[in-house]
Amino acid sequence: MENIVIIGTGCAGFTAAIYAARANLNPLVLEGKQPGGQLTTTSEVENFPGFPEGVDGFMFMDNLRKQALKFGTKIQNSFVDSVEFGPDKKILKMGDKTLEAKSVIIATGAAPRLLGIPGEQEMYGGKGVTTCATCDGAFYRDMDVVVIGGGDSACEEALFLTRFCSSVTILHRRDQLRASKIMAERAIEHPKINVLWDTKPEKINPDAKGKVQSISITNLKTGEKEQVECKGVFIAIGHIPNTKCFEGVLPLDENGYLIPEKGSSVLTPIPGVYVAGDCADDIYRQAITAAGMGCQAAIEAERWLAEQTG
Ligand code: NAP
Repeated sequence: MENIVIIGTGCAGFTAAIYAARANLNPLVLEGKQPGGQLTTTSEVENFPGFPEGVDGFMFMDNLRKQALKFGTKIQNSFVDSVEFGPDKKILKMGDKTLEAKSVIIATGAAPRLLGIPGEQEMYGGKGVTTCATCDGAFYRDMDVVVIGGGDSACEEALFLTRFCSSVTILHRRDQLRASKIMAERAIEHPKINVLWDTKPEKINPDAKGKVQSISITNLKTGEKEQVECKGVFIAIGHIPNTKCFEGVLPLDENGYLIPEKGSSVLTPIPGVYVAGDCADDIYRQAITAAGMGCQAAIEAERWLAEQTG
């Protein structure tokens, strides 16, 4: 039986692994369908403390991986389909394979919902299409950008972007924002923000260098088509937490995020099972906050395991 299995290899998972490995727990990390997590799709990370010149997202995750391996972490490529969590034994099922562990840290992350339109994948991460204003907003200083979506995230991203960008155009598919009243009002009333209602994004168009130049849109009421010139397209249509295999086992909110115990960000109702990172955080969603949760989860697991063995 493994001491500790960490599911996920993003910032939360690898930070938990570094802490658990340095505590001589010999952790096993399960690497899923996106090794390294969301940061591997970002070109440059400028807001992780300790990197005054910024750091390439892929390189950063590779360094975390190396750091985890250095202290004795084992890594296995496996996708968990279902789990059975008892107080003493945790069972993880992966296809026809089964793993048993004393403790588990769930750090399965979340995936930003994407539009699935031409140009999106091609220019994602470094060429003008992004899903994180906090991460990438500063790269668009004095430029025109668009934000897609009508929820709190879209309004929050648009408001944040007004600090850097010349103009922010929100493209929303309906004639009313879904966001909370206060956020919606702030966005609509902001002098730098313009909202295009009933708008369907059709295609993101590149310039000669392959970077975003404009977005083609259709007005859903009039059928009118136009192109909006912009250097950045911020997609804010929600995230999908990777938590399907925990349905019915652990508490999830209505959007599928794992709900930690009250007063903690990493404890769950099952002793020896912890959550960390974006799979349990729909508020901050930052590399540093995920890393912090990974650290907390590993320390909790270490203490709990020590209590079990006396
Ligand atoms: P959300 O509330 O689900 O909103 C997603 C938005 O994207 C909706 O306006 C939706 O349009 C639009 N959308 C979805 N799929 C689309 C598609 N394929 N094409 C075009 N538009 C699409 O997601 P969220 O804004 O990320 O918020 C998630 C949760 O976190 C919410 O509960 C929110 O209140 C919370 N949150 C809170 C804060 C805060 O309080 N500061 C900040 C961020 C998020 P429709 O409106 O037509 O469905």
